[in-house]
Amino acid sequence: MPATTSKPELLAKALKLLDKKFPAPNEPVTRPVLEELIYGVCREGCPTAQADATFLHLKKTFFDWNEIRVSTVPEIHEALKGVPNNGPKAQRIVEILQYVFEMYYSFELGDLDKKGLRQAAKQLARFTGVNDFTVAWVTQRSLGGHAIPLDEPTLRVLRRLKVVEGEIDDLEAARGTIEHYIPKTSGFEFTEHIATLAADLCREKQPKCAECPLKSDCPTGQENLAKKADPKPKPKSR
Ligand code: SF4
Repeated sequence: MPATTSKPELLAKALKLLDKKFPAPNEPVTRPVLEELIYGVCREGCPTAQADATFLHLKKTFFDWNEIRVSTVPEIHEALKGVPNNGPKAQRIVEILQYVFEMYYSFELGDLDKKGLRQAAKQLARFTGVNDFTVAWVTQRSLGGHAIPLDEPTLRVLRRLKVVEGEIDDLEAARGTIEHYIPKTSGFEFTEHIATLAADLCREKQPKCAECPLKSDCPTGQENLAKKADPKPKPKSR
């Protein structure tokens, strides 16, 4: 039975353990708001190294944002093949660029962060092709706010830790709860470490609980390890 019970305590302890297990994440790259938004689309569902490589490839493949806007979805899909869900992501990137172009007649979103955090996040959420993850991503990385972007791998870890339970009807509200548990100063590190944990150990299939630093406090890890230690006896052959 895990000794740590409160969810904020569990997450604080998890962060310390992950800090010891994984190398410190690189300092976040400073990007213009629009670029961070497109990067956020790439980063959803995969760790930073994977998103970095794909984002770089996307930028090298096309001359500028306008060329991406007028390209076909299959062309962008091909350039994004290093990240999950690259088809829907290609479509979303075109939608975002088209929306920004029609709204602002340029690809500059420099004024967004002058509107105040809440207003800027609200405005971003209205963009076509943007979802809760990308709004939270830009809030954390470009707008200086406290946000914990929740993608599927992050939610998988939080579910296995029983920090998130059951189906989520309102992702923004669930995110608000997690943001309440994690202090702003740890938001970046938490986001990076949980993504690494999800990719390296807490995989969708066959999580490597025996190697996981969270195994003593993770209810799912405890169950998985107990099953391995005490497998059901095989029926006797007759
Ligand atoms: S103990 Fe297992 S289920 Fe729990 S976080 Fe680690 S890898 Fe995931």
